[in-house]
Amino acid sequence: MNRVAYKYRIYPNNEQKEYFAKCFGCVRFFYNKSLSDMIEYHKTHKGFKNITPATYKDEFPFLKEVDSLALANAQLNRNSAYKAFFRSVNKFPKYKSKKNDQSYTTNNQQCSIRLSDNSKYITIPKCKRIRIKKHRDFYGDIKSATISKTTDDKYYISLLVEVEIKPLERNDNSIGLDLGIKDLIVDSNGNKYKNHKYLSKSQKKLAKEQRKLSHMEKGSSNRNKQRIKVARIHTHINNQRNDYLHKLSKKIIDENQIICIEDLKVKNMEQNHKLARSIIDASWSRFVSMLMYKASWYGNTIIKVPTNYASTQLCSSCGYQNKEAKNLKIRKWTCPECGSVHDRDYNAAKNILSKGIEMLTKDGTHPDSLFMLDPLGSSSKKPPLL
Ligand SMILES: [Zn+2]
Repeated sequence: MNRVAYKYRIYPNNEQKEYFAKCFGCVRFFYNKSLSDMIEYHKTHKGFKNITPATYKDEFPFLKEVDSLALANAQLNRNSAYKAFFRSVNKFPKYKSKKNDQSYTTNNQQCSIRLSDNSKYITIPKCKRIRIKKHRDFYGDIKSATISKTTDDKYYISLLVEVEIKPLERNDNSIGLDLGIKDLIVDSNGNKYKNHKYLSKSQKKLAKEQRKLSHMEKGSSNRNKQRIKVARIHTHINNQRNDYLHKLSKKIIDENQIICIEDLKVKNMEQNHKLARSIIDASWSRFVSMLMYKASWYGNTIIKVPTNYASTQLCSSCGYQNKEAKNLKIRKWTCPECGSVHDRDYNAAKNILSKGIEMLTKDGTHPDSLFMLDPLGSSSKKPPLL
């Protein structure tokens, strides 16, 4: 079983908005209050006290008005944040703020979360018939739902669905991918997938509106309007990009059994300020994570070829290492040894493929960089958002 989250826009009426505001508030209140009480308790008693929502319900009767599952989920989240802190793998558990935490999660119990009227409405515990825009289908059983409100006052519902995914029909194709800045991907068959133009168009617009925003007086109503405008452009860019990356990663997964990619240490490259912008735009890391979880669903093999492997410098025909090709500006070069003419990225993709296959077949053992992923359902990883 795999878990997938599907996010949809919802259009609550005023009464429903009021109810959501109450839920967000109560969840935040319970989370923060119980967290600080637990920390106090730890100071005096040196122990862990699992404070439940029931503890506060007499003193704060408004907690009774909201979905008790929402509070129960807040309790679970708080406990994992608290415990992670004491295992010192995480920073101190953060308190929820009104600005950033406008969400709550509830569970499906005997169809308490369900769609109705041709999927035009969704019902959740304590809140009936919320208008929903179901822009894509999902298959499987709804486990839980998270309601959220964005800074630009839009509401969303994210449904966590459990689904069994059938493996694709097998093929013997393998492919190498070079991730780049000019082209998002060049593959070892010579295909190039552009970093879409519309992204940079939207980004120009974003930069313009952000500049406007920065000149507006703090606290003014115009500034508030502008803030919402900027947030909308952000969402738009994000949606466009996700859509493109989903289609592209699915295509590559469908067509190839073995996929070799460069193990990019994106973080290292981000230190270079000029490159950073392009890297974010290109969304390499998002693309790679989409490939990884789709591979785990459909049973493809992903091989990460180590970065120190000089994929751009080797001639894919004869293996000669051309150190001059290290320079990023050189897009085309001719091998001084065998005379082959190389497109920089296409050549790199071919080298990534042959190195990956070499790693896969070496001594018949699996190299460390071969990803045998756990099915997502059995790990604690966040499920992918579709
Ligand atoms: Zn050569």
